[in-house]
Amino acid sequence: MAKLTRRGLLAGTAAAAIVPHVDPSAAATPAAGQQAPAIYRYRIGSYQLTALYDGIWYRPITDKFIRNAPFAEVEQALDAAFMPHDKLATPFTALVVNTGTKLVLIDTGTGGQISPSAGALRDNLIAAGINTHAVDQIVISHFHPDHINGVKDKDNNLIFPNAEIMVPAPEWAFWMDDANMNVAPADLKETFLNQRRIFSDIANNVTRYAPGQEVASGIETVPAPGHTPGHTVFAIHSGDQSLLVLGDTAQHPAVFARHPDWQAAFDVDGTQAVATRKRIFDRAAADRMLVTGYHFPFPACGHLIKTASGYEHVPVEWQPNM
Ligand SMILES: [Zn+2]
Repeated sequence: MAKLTRRGLLAGTAAAAIVPHVDPSAAATPAAGQQAPAIYRYRIGSYQLTALYDGIWYRPITDKFIRNAPFAEVEQALDAAFMPHDKLATPFTALVVNTGTKLVLIDTGTGGQISPSAGALRDNLIAAGINTHAVDQIVISHFHPDHINGVKDKDNNLIFPNAEIMVPAPEWAFWMDDANMNVAPADLKETFLNQRRIFSDIANNVTRYAPGQEVASGIETVPAPGHTPGHTVFAIHSGDQSLLVLGDTAQHPAVFARHPDWQAAFDVDGTQAVATRKRIFDRAAADRMLVTGYHFPFPACGHLIKTASGYEHVPVEWQPNM
């Protein structure tokens, strides 16, 4: 069979006929220097949700990235998803829920402190018409830096000065325990130190919730341990509609939904992370629930279907009308 190449396409007479001869220097409108704001609004019942893109980090990975699969298999999965072999595409999408009485932010982005290609949350909030002072409540899924760094800016000032900060109690118990920090390997120690930078001086104003409890009207918390000990997902209910906020139950779906058994090096308890992922994904697939994943491609919202070997994420269609 002839190989279809770009050159082959352009050589075709039909294609050649429609390729216009345009001198780029003659363009009437100069090329834009930056990306458009990344905001996606949708509704769950009477609640208005706003997905806000913080950006993306190409996280360096090695052959130790997946603990329980040969790297050749991981490379195959990355190839299948058109991803490089030495970096994991790690996009970040935070979510604002307007319940009608409260403005709730779920996870806070990177605060511009993880990657030069992330940190746009604040600009996107402004573009969405949401004032940082108007956020009533911040609810945290877990204590990894890409979820909590946006509590403060680089100078340690609170970005959402009027928000009550709510964190999972088991997450606080694990990470804020100095005995756990002292026995941690060096790279994980940095994570512990970062958590102290964010939380130590505001500890008295941080509310610790027990996963399972409701943190705001219609926002139910669901224990999802493994990725971290207190990792929590959220089920948002309004009217007869629901949304499951998956947090880091799976990172990029092209890797971890398709390969739900894989234990990532960054999971605190890989076996438990896999069991949690399957329990939650099975529920989402069986109930055909709308889901959003913090590290899913923007707007990070869609459905999960069960396949022979795992799950596939089916993104939503962009809806022009609300
Ligand atoms: Zn994360």
